Amino acid sequence: MAKHSPLKTAASFIFIIVLVIGLSTVSNRIWGGRPEASAKPGELVIEPGMTIARFGQVNELPDPVLKEIFGLENKADLQKELQAYGSTGQIAALVKGKLALAAEHAGKNWIKIPIKFGLWFAFLASVFILMARRKVTPGLRNGVLFASFMLFGVILGADPSPMGTVKDAIHLYATSHVIFPPRMIALVVFLAIVLLANKYICAWGCQAGTLQDLLFRLNRTDQAKAVIGRQIKLPFALTNTIRCAFFLLFTLVAFSSGLDIIDPIDPFKIYKPADLGLSGALFAGMLSLACLFVYRPWCHLFCPFGLVGWLMEKTSLVRISVDYESCIACGKCAAACPSTVMGAILKRDRKTIPDCFACYTCREVCPTAAIRFSTRRRTLPPAGHFGKSPQ
Ligand code: SF4
Ligand code: SF4
Repeated sequence: MAKHSPLKTAASFIFIIVLVIGLSTVSNRIWGGRPEASAKPGELVIEPGMTIARFGQVNELPDPVLKEIFGLENKADLQKELQAYGSTGQIAALVKGKLALAAEHAGKNWIKIPIKFGLWFAFLASVFILMARRKVTPGLRNGVLFASFMLFGVILGADPSPMGTVKDAIHLYATSHVIFPPRMIALVVFLAIVLLANKYICAWGCQAGTLQDLLFRLNRTDQAKAVIGRQIKLPFALTNTIRCAFFLLFTLVAFSSGLDIIDPIDPFKIYKPADLGLSGALFAGMLSLACLFVYRPWCHLFCPFGLVGWLMEKTSLVRISVDYESCIACGKCAAACPSTVMGAILKRDRKTIPDCFACYTCREVCPTAAIRFSTRRRTLPPAGHFGKSPQ
């Protein structure tokens, strides 16, 4: 069979989706199917003159939980008046917040999380070293992307994820007015990676991002031509407007009604097939198909971390830049770039540089090694450097 053919692309696409769903089902069983979503505390019954002990009985809260919530020192404290802790609204907020934090804590797999972060660091560092040697080939890149989502998605599961740190933090705060400290630490770690090396975590570590990336590349020849149909570069003004609007909508709905509008279509649930549901399965199917024709549609159109990471990458220490001394203005990098980033960089467009996923495709095709992934600042191309506008 030819190296790239429509039949091979279609077969590889189906194989990967079936493999991910099949093995994720097995993996979830092995990890014990521990629920990682937090349980929502129901409506609390608070009556005038209630003691803490009575409050516990009515709301089915055991003594150790009451002790934790109200900071009780001994059993006699259970007879304290509930009103001593504030108004009905304040007590409800206190209890709901503490219960939400306890549910978050109980819902996490504390064995898996440190393993996953340790492997993330080791994996990203290895990719960085590998790519720094400038020996990247499309085959090698596909192998790394495959290894990434198999490890961080299929084997280690949907949680934690870069997106979850932003989405769940907003939703938890909106519904319970609390912040879950371990999640904030994870968010800081992910953002620190963005500050250090562009969207490296999205490029090579995110389980949803690497899967989308590989599906896109299945439908591409080494010369960046589509195998089936056409691959489209959507204008950044359009994708980013949709992403901002979706982020605002998600936040507004979470604060006004407590609903999580991402949850029913969360693409990370492909690694938790039992939780997908009908809407999730339909959306995951459509998104996977879209990946063949558009580069990382979820990242560009919907992902909250994608948006936050795009803002942060403006100050990244290490990022893609072009050395215009050796650049011969052939435009091959912009043509090969799966999105509109390299075109924007070459167009002297400093304000609206789209998300760069540090995928190295541009660097790989440059005939004069003029593209760097380094701490050197991006400079503007000299006026008139490009005879005609790059793609
Ligand atoms: S932008 Fe894409 S790669 Fe980054 S966290 Fe979101 S889904 Fe993952
Ligand atoms: S091809 Fe280059 S500019 Fe385009 S996303 Fe990849 S690394 Fe960034």
